[in-house]
Amino acid sequence: MAKYIGPACRICRREGEKLFLKGSRCFSPKCAMDKQRNFAPGQHGRTHQGHGERESDYARQLRAKQRARRIYGMTERPFRRFFGIAEHTRGQTGLILLQTLETRLDNIVFRMGFAENRAQARQLVNHGHFTINGRRADIPSMLVKPGDIVEVAETSKKLTYFKELADLAEKRVCAVWMDRDLKKLSGRVIRLPERSEIDGSLNEQLIVEYYSR
Ligand code: SF4
Repeated sequence: MAKYIGPACRICRREGEKLFLKGSRCFSPKCAMDKQRNFAPGQHGRTHQGHGERESDYARQLRAKQRARRIYGMTERPFRRFFGIAEHTRGQTGLILLQTLETRLDNIVFRMGFAENRAQARQLVNHGHFTINGRRADIPSMLVKPGDIVEVAETSKKLTYFKELADLAEKRVCAVWMDRDLKKLSGRVIRLPERSEIDGSLNEQLIVEYYSR
């Protein structure tokens, strides 16, 4: 499946709810879901919302899967691969899936407050601006383990964005399952997140049902 490169707000309109894909704009009056465009995109968006009361089980499972996939900015194939990892790991498949998604490097960079949203975090990682335990890491889907230290690469610290990053990041919340050092522009994953520390609107049970059909 091709990578989606269209407007992020269109995804929220498709899902019929705010997915917070853009950062500060999502909390401003400019949010498309708070304005008059709060209807599904496309020619029939106003008349055919696609979120009616008569949704089948399959439709609900599909929507839950699509929603999670879009929040983490992933295409179908890697998302299915992550589900496969969760499926083959001992424990609750749904929870393990969410924990695995949360420990993607791009998500960690976002959760540490070093990027405004996951799309920006992915781009920063892709451009080689981060290291894991001192080694350059430029693959957004790399998994970060508890104890790993994620840090802005020394060469990147001279760039304007990273010179101003400590002030920007200070205003952003860092997830409780990691700690960060804004002077060093680094952070450490302390442990895996608990379910209550992951987006409560995600429905992992429906995702498991979708892939178990
Ligand atoms: Fe979604 Fe954010 Fe766009 Fe609002 S501003 S529609 S929450 S991506």
